[in-house]
Amino acid sequence: MLTAHLPSGYVLARCLPKGIPALMPAALIGAILPDIDMIWFHFVDDRAFHHHRYWVHVPFFWLVVASVALPLAWWLGWLRTAFVFFAAILMHLILDSIGGGIMWAAPVSDHLFALVTVPPTYGHWVASFILHWTFLAELGVWGAAILLWVRRRQSTVSLEGP
Ligand SMILES: [Zn+2]
Repeated sequence: MLTAHLPSGYVLARCLPKGIPALMPAALIGAILPDIDMIWFHFVDDRAFHHHRYWVHVPFFWLVVASVALPLAWWLGWLRTAFVFFAAILMHLILDSIGGGIMWAAPVSDHLFALVTVPPTYGHWVASFILHWTFLAELGVWGAAILLWVRRRQSTVSLEGP
């Protein structure tokens, strides 16, 4: 997924009950955090590997992190916030599985599982992804986020009155 991780976090937060502490930051940070590996991908490894092979894109890594963090979050009283964060991470990995591939079976296998293989139809890989039908999923996420944002603005304005 190229562009829709941040709006997917917004959609997640807007679909959950409002009483969760730090709901929006947890959802937004979790929704984009796995792509922090792009820094290493571009500036250290010089794009030598598919960035979905870095540990922040491996579900097993997050399973281990969650198994430590969730009990700690429960003890600190932040369990619901931690669940939102890990749900956003999981959502990121699922969305990346549409056309990018995720190592769902790691550490048993290093195979990148993808719902659809996007062929290198155009000269640049970004063009191949944007002009592939799977990009409609990204547009759908963006559309949902914009719709929810507009609805919230309208309800805020109507609460404030003229
Ligand atoms: Zn990603």
